[in-house]
Amino acid sequence: MTGKTGTVSLIGAGPGDPKLITVGGREALEKSDVVVYDRLAHPKLLDHARADAERVYVGKQADRHAMKQEAINALLAQKAQEGKAVARLKGGDPFVFGRGGEEAEYLRARGIPYRVIPGVTSAIAAPAYAGIPVTHRDLASSFAVITGHERDDRGEAGARAPGQAEGRRRWERIAHAADTLLFLMGVESLEEIVARLTENGRDPHTPVALVRWGTWAGRQETLTGTLGDIVPKVREAGFTAPAVTVVGEVVALRERLRWFDRGPLAGRRIVVTRAREQASEFAEELRARGAEPIEFPLIRLVPPPDGYAALDAAVTRVGSYDWVCFASAPAVAAFFDRLALAGKDARVLAGARVAAVGPATADALRTHGIRPDFQPRTQTGAALAEEMPGEVETVNILIPRASEGDERMVEKLAAKGAVVDAVPAYQNIMDGAGAEMIRERLAAGSIDVVTFTSSSTVRNFVAALAPPELGAGGELGAGGATLPTGVTIACIGPSTAQTAAKLLGRAPDIVAGEHTLPGLLAALERHFGG
Ligand code: SAH
Repeated sequence: MTGKTGTVSLIGAGPGDPKLITVGGREALEKSDVVVYDRLAHPKLLDHARADAERVYVGKQADRHAMKQEAINALLAQKAQEGKAVARLKGGDPFVFGRGGEEAEYLRARGIPYRVIPGVTSAIAAPAYAGIPVTHRDLASSFAVITGHERDDRGEAGARAPGQAEGRRRWERIAHAADTLLFLMGVESLEEIVARLTENGRDPHTPVALVRWGTWAGRQETLTGTLGDIVPKVREAGFTAPAVTVVGEVVALRERLRWFDRGPLAGRRIVVTRAREQASEFAEELRARGAEPIEFPLIRLVPPPDGYAALDAAVTRVGSYDWVCFASAPAVAAFFDRLALAGKDARVLAGARVAAVGPATADALRTHGIRPDFQPRTQTGAALAEEMPGEVETVNILIPRASEGDERMVEKLAAKGAVVDAVPAYQNIMDGAGAEMIRERLAAGSIDVVTFTSSSTVRNFVAALAPPELGAGGELGAGGATLPTGVTIACIGPSTAQTAAKLLGRAPDIVAGEHTLPGLLAALERHFGG
């Protein structure tokens, strides 16, 4: 072992809703070199880690252990001994079941520094999102959190046959341990839990609720009954883990207090098709309404095909241009990145006039201390070329833009006699990454709505999902049932709707009245609100 030892942070990821991680937990994630995470930690939390941080999935599912506990312990120790900051992200609270204590003991025995960042446990949060407070002035003055498995570790039920779970547990004590009983890992052994509780004197009329995938937008499900009838109800509904089982009078409060699973969008699974940065805000709004946003970014920005050769050359002679016209915000970002790499700064633009194609591009320029001299009234390259002030003839113009940029701008300026140098600053590529997941979910019927916020999102969506033999831009409506009829199509406005109708082979179900994201959200709520 060389150098210093790293630290392991045992972080509570919270029960699911990615906002339910603590500030400390998020900071530890941001600083980590390695993230070791489970199935019950929301995947969205990984976005907090650095892009270059190593991500290791050690999730467990029923009897299939992705990685044995011993191997997880060894992995944590090994990474820390390599000097790395290790984030061990665990569902809920790390010290409420789930073997956080054992991981700490293992590290302690090897002299590896660790710290514990508590999390919001599902034991309390899942009932809360179902509208069930675990205590209440009139109904319950105590609660107990109990494992549905003896000495369990499995994270999920399923490994033990009913009857086997007795062992060390003292049911006569558990049955009266508190007014509210909260069982984790208790779906498979529910029959036994119910039998032992009633045998030991809990009233068969006691209300019971099972909350499955609590706090997970679009996934949370709640089933209620009594000790007397919950077992057949659970069996009938095919209700499976992970769930928290709540036993006690407080369950009755759900009737009045339910909130998360109540609105018109609750439980809807909604595809959001925008570039990732723009998608997140809309996704947040959906999640806050209990819907599951399925982010399908479609587009990813990568370096241009020439590896910046043309942009770098242009950067070295910026002083010779009369105008620099930025065609997009990413073009601004790439220009200034390359400028900095060349050891220069914004002063190279001192002698040139600067144009921005639209407000986002202008904002990007301002963050670099440049106030654009000109911005066209409508946000297109063609408008920029037409409206550019002053004499254009023989003027030298540099246009940093996407490698597949708008040719009309170049043609129009050239036609006016300008000497145009359009250089690729980045490339938009189709992000097929999510396509497989979307295809699977469409096939499984686990997508309710697909939203489109521009014609290009429709085109990219179709191209990303179309079988290759259709080619890019192939028409799904003509090619087959890629968007099943049960899937609601929602568009931000009429021109997007037109493209959708053409490429998807049927008219959209929802067209927003106000052509903005809040407008689209309102239209969705109206549609499903009935
Ligand atoms: N440390 C975790 C519990 C780990 S044990 C915590 O504090 O929440 C795993 C069990 O937790 C599951 O079998 C299930 O009973 C419960 N659980 C975890 N996340 C859940 C969720 N989102 N909804 C319902 N139950 C959950």
